[in-house]
Amino acid sequence: MLYVIGLGPGGKEEITPKAMEALATCDIIAGYTIYIDLIRPYFPEKEFLTTPMKQEVKRCTLAIETALTGKTVAMVCSGDAGVYGMAGLIFELAQSYPNPPTIKVIGGITAACSGAAVLGAPLMHDFAVISLSDLLTPWKQIEARLRCAAQGDFVICLYNPASKKRQDYLQKACDILLESKTADTVCGWVKNIGREGETAEILSLGELRNASVDMFTTVYIGNSKTKDINGFLVTPRGYPIP
Ligand code: SAH
Repeated sequence: MLYVIGLGPGGKEEITPKAMEALATCDIIAGYTIYIDLIRPYFPEKEFLTTPMKQEVKRCTLAIETALTGKTVAMVCSGDAGVYGMAGLIFELAQSYPNPPTIKVIGGITAACSGAAVLGAPLMHDFAVISLSDLLTPWKQIEARLRCAAQGDFVICLYNPASKKRQDYLQKACDILLESKTADTVCGWVKNIGREGETAEILSLGELRNASVDMFTTVYIGNSKTKDINGFLVTPRGYPIP
């Protein structure tokens, strides 16, 4: 049995009871070192399989092959395992085995939702989630998606807004959004959601262009109606207010 489990943004209280139950039945918990370290204290008796970042194929293959030996294995991811996580890759790799293990995905709270809760209610209307990581997606395609989302007046939620090697990607993304959105569009970012050092800011799109974000930041760009209500980022759903 191979579980693919989303752990939510960070804290134990944000892991669903269903995920906790599945983890408790596992012999082995596999995942990226940072996320394993988050849950290791809650399951001291378990065996852990960790691999560093950028070894995703190796990590998933190892999890599949360990499950095939008859063990119950959990592959854990932050947030939701099916949102830029390992769930898809597990299915893709498992199909090439003649008798693949049973795979069960258990949902988690993705950063878009946990970060939105920190800021207020920015995702009340149609939104598009776009990752700025061009490791597996050509930058031209990311640009096209940013442009289309801005033209469609979606609220936009950006994952992977920067990394050590990609310092200016948020700036480049903001320049594209500014082609069709005004500089005073209300935006926000949240760093380290549910983890030590959680910080957040509401700012304009013009200011966001120069904001310093890192790989543990999720960014929100409002639609044309999004506003700052007493320090909360809110996108009106459209209900008539008397
Ligand atoms: N599967 C994860 C996303 C992995 S992609 C999920 O569903 O949340 C990694 C990106 O997610 C990061 O670059 C960041 O933009 C966002 N992210 C994940 N966890 C975060 C956290 N605790 N705080 C802020 N952003 C986070």
